[in-house]
Amino acid sequence: MEIFINVILPIPLEKHFTYRISEAEAALLKSGMRVAVPFGKTKLYTALVVDIHHTPPLVYEAKAIHDILDEQPIVTAIQIKHWQWIADYYMCTIGEVFRSAIPSALLLESETLILLNKEAVIDEDQLKDDEFMVYEALKHQNILRVNDIMEIVERKNILPVLGRLIKLEAILLKEEIHEQYKPKMVRYVRLGQRYGSETELEELLNSLTRAPKQSQVVLSLFHLQATKKKPIKLDDLEVESRTSRAVIRALINKEVLEEYFIQTDRVVFNGGKELEPPKELNEYQVAALNSIRQNFDNNKVTLLKGVTSSGKTEVYVQLIADCLRKGKQALYLVPEIAITTQLISRLQEYFGSAISVFHSKYNMQEKVEVWKNVLDNKSKAQLIIGARSALFLPFSDLGLIIIDEEHETSFKQYDPAPRYHARDAAIVLGGLFSSDVLLGSATPSIESYYNAQTSKYGYAQIDRRFGNVLMPEMELVDIKEQHRKKRMNGHFSERLLEEMTETLRQGEQIILFQNRRGYAPILECTTCGHSPQCPNCDVSLTYHMQRKQLRCHYCGHHIALPQICLACGSNTLDTKGFGTEQVEQELNTIFPSARVGRMDLDSTRGKHAYAKIIHAFENQEMDILVGTQMVTKGLDFRNVNLVGIMNADALLNFPDFRAHERTFQLLTQVAGRAGRTKKRGKVIIQTFNPYHQILKQVTTGDYEGMFQEQLYERELYKYPPVNRIIRMTFKHKEYNKLNDASQWFAKALRNSMDIKVLGPEFPPVSRIRNQYLKHVLIKIPQGLPLYKTKKSIKRIHNSFDAVSQFKGVRIIYNVDYM
Ligand code: ADP
Ligand code: ZN
Ligand code: ZN
Repeated sequence: MEIFINVILPIPLEKHFTYRISEAEAALLKSGMRVAVPFGKTKLYTALVVDIHHTPPLVYEAKAIHDILDEQPIVTAIQIKHWQWIADYYMCTIGEVFRSAIPSALLLESETLILLNKEAVIDEDQLKDDEFMVYEALKHQNILRVNDIMEIVERKNILPVLGRLIKLEAILLKEEIHEQYKPKMVRYVRLGQRYGSETELEELLNSLTRAPKQSQVVLSLFHLQATKKKPIKLDDLEVESRTSRAVIRALINKEVLEEYFIQTDRVVFNGGKELEPPKELNEYQVAALNSIRQNFDNNKVTLLKGVTSSGKTEVYVQLIADCLRKGKQALYLVPEIAITTQLISRLQEYFGSAISVFHSKYNMQEKVEVWKNVLDNKSKAQLIIGARSALFLPFSDLGLIIIDEEHETSFKQYDPAPRYHARDAAIVLGGLFSSDVLLGSATPSIESYYNAQTSKYGYAQIDRRFGNVLMPEMELVDIKEQHRKKRMNGHFSERLLEEMTETLRQGEQIILFQNRRGYAPILECTTCGHSPQCPNCDVSLTYHMQRKQLRCHYCGHHIALPQICLACGSNTLDTKGFGTEQVEQELNTIFPSARVGRMDLDSTRGKHAYAKIIHAFENQEMDILVGTQMVTKGLDFRNVNLVGIMNADALLNFPDFRAHERTFQLLTQVAGRAGRTKKRGKVIIQTFNPYHQILKQVTTGDYEGMFQEQLYERELYKYPPVNRIIRMTFKHKEYNKLNDASQWFAKALRNSMDIKVLGPEFPPVSRIRNQYLKHVLIKIPQGLPLYKTKKSIKRIHNSFDAVSQFKGVRIIYNVDYM
C-alpha cells in the first residue's frame, strides 16, 4: 500500500499538501519532523509533517519527498494545534504561521540565499565530501541560492548538507547579513581537553618546571577557577598571572590551554554566585499574590493592575518560583526587547542558569539553540524571557505565562501575517497547556480591564508604590499661553526649564519624551511653501540633522538635505514640527554642560545599542535622556526625578478610536519612570490643551474615570471590547482599480451580512511604496459567532478573486486591529 504524508509548507496555502514516502521513510518519520520537498517545477521547501496516511490526493499526483531532515520531531502536537488556532482566528494560512514561528535556519528553501562565513575558521579536512563540494562552490561565488547550489553540485538532497554547514558556522543565510551589528565576542580560556585527570595535570606541571612563566599561568588559572567558579576571561588570566599575552598564547599553541569565545550579551550565568531567595513581599503584594493564586486555582486568567513601581515584578518572581518548583516551564513575555536587558539581570539573581532569552535580534544559531533547549526541556530553558515571538517555542510542559505590560500595542504583530496579538495567542496557548496566565500592567488595556470587570478574568491590584514612595507629582503646562507671552525657549516652557535646572543641580536625572524621531517632520520653503514629499508615499520627508538627510519613515527613501528649495530655488528653508533630534540639539545649547543621550529607532539600530544606552543612563553617565515611546516601557531607573513630556497633543489628536486610551497609558507609563526610589518624582506635561479630559485623568491617576468614559464611547460607537473588529486593507498601485475593488467588497459585505461595515476609506497616509491603500472596518457585535462572520467574509473573498478586473488587488486582514 502506498504511504503518504500531509505537510505544512511555509507558503500561504489554505490546505496541507500531500507527498509520497517509501516504507523505509515511513518507519522513520513522525509528525513534527521536517522534510525537504519539491514544489512546482523548480522549488524546494522545508515542510513540516503533520500526519502519515494511505489516502492519495484527489486532484494531483503526489510527489516523493527529497529528504528527511530530522531524527526527532522539532515541533510538538500542541504547537501545531496552536498555529491552527492562530491561522483560523487571525484569518491567515497555517503556512504563514509556520514560516514566522520557526527560526529561519530551520527553514531552508530553494530561494534562500547562502554565503560563506568569511570569519569562521573551518578545518576543511573535517568536512565530508558533499559538504566540501558545497563549501568549494561557495568559495567561488559570493552568494548562491540553494537552487544554484543544487545544480552546481548536481544533487537534490542538499538541505541536510547545508544544515550541517550552518551548524559548523561555515555558511550564513543572506538575511543575517542585513543585521548591522556585530556581536561582541569575549575571549575565554580553559585547560586543554587532554588534562582531565590529576595525573595528567601533575605531568603537565612537571613538564613546565623549566618554564616558570607558563607554569605561573597554569597555576593562576587554577586559582581563578577555584575562587570564581565561572568561565575565565583571557584578560583576567593575563592580569592574575602577571605575565604577558605571548606566554598565554604559547600555552594555547601547545594545546595546554584552549581559547573559546562567548558572546557577551548572551545569558552566561555566573555559576559560582549564590542564588538569592525571592524578596519578602509587603502586605499589598502579599494580598495581590494570594488573590492571584486563588484565581489560578479556579483556572482563571488573571489581571494584575499595579501602579508603576508597585513591585509587580517581585510578585511575578514568586509565581515563577512556584512554577519552577513544580518542574514546569515558565514564559515571561515583554513587549519590547529593550526591557529584556534590565529584566534578565534582575531575574538572574533568583533563577540563575534556568533562564533563556529569545527575541528577534538573536541570530539564527542562537535561536536554534534556544529552540532545541526548550524542546528538550533543558534545565537552562525553564524560564524563557522573550518578546512576542517566544510564544512559538516548542514548550513541553508550560506551567505559567506572564504577560507584562499587557496593554502594549507592540504585542500585536502588524506585518507580515500572522497578525496575531501575543497576549491573546498566549492565553490560548495557556489553555492548551492548562497553564496559569497572568497579565500585568499599571494601565491595563480597556479590553483586559473589561474582562476583569465582567469576571471573565480574575483580578488583583496594588495601589501603592513599593516603599510607599508617592506617585510623581504631575503638572500641566499650557504652552499656548507660553507661546503667546513669548516665554518659550525653543520647545521648552519656563516651568520645564526651571524644574530641569533644579533637577540637574541636585545631580538627578531627567527623561524627556517626544514621540517623533528625526529633527523635524517637515522641511518647508517659506517663500513658495513647497515641502519635499516622498516620491513613493503620500507623506512629507522627515529632516534628519545628524545624517544630513530627508527620510521617509514609511519606505526608507532618502535624499541628501537640499540647501535650496527644490521648487523655487530660494534658500529660505524652515522646519515645522519637531522630533527627538531637535530636542537633543536644543538641550546642547540650553544646558551645555549636561550630558544628553537619545533613545529612538535611529539611535538603537544595532543589537547592543539599546543595552548600551540603558546602561550608560543607569550608570549615570548621562544626565538627560531624550526618547520616543521606547523610554516609556517598563524601565527601572533609580535616579530619575523629572520626566518632561514635550508635547502631549500629537498623541491626543491621533486619528484612532484608541488614541485617548493610548495617551493615558503612554503618559502614565512615562511618568512612572520618575521618582521610583525615595523622593517624590515630578512630571511636567506640555500641551496646547491643558483642559483636555484625558490629561486631567492622567494627572490625577484616574484610571477608573478614563475606563468608564472610554467604555461609554466604545459602546456608543461599537468598538472593542463591546464589538469585535476586523480591519481589511486593500492595496493596489492603481487608484481607480483600488477604489472599485474596495467598493465592491464593502457592498458585498453589507448585502450578505447584518453587520456594521465602515468604509472603504483612505487612511491618513493613503499611499505607501507606490501602493494606494483603503480600509474597510467590520464591526461584529458580541453574541454573533466570529467564525461564522469570518466564513462569510472568506466566501465573499472567493467571489472577489474570481472577478478578473480586480486581479492583483491585495487584501490584508487584521483581526482585532490595533
Ligand atoms: P513594577 O514592576 O510594579 O513597576 P518593580 O517590581 O520594578 O515594580 O518594583 C519597584 C522597585 O521596588 C524595584 O526596585 C524593586 O526591587 C523594589 N521592590 C519591589 N518589591 C519589593 C520587596 N518586596 N522588597 C524589596 N524591594 C522591592
Ligand atoms: Zn520654495
Ligand atoms: Zn516613502
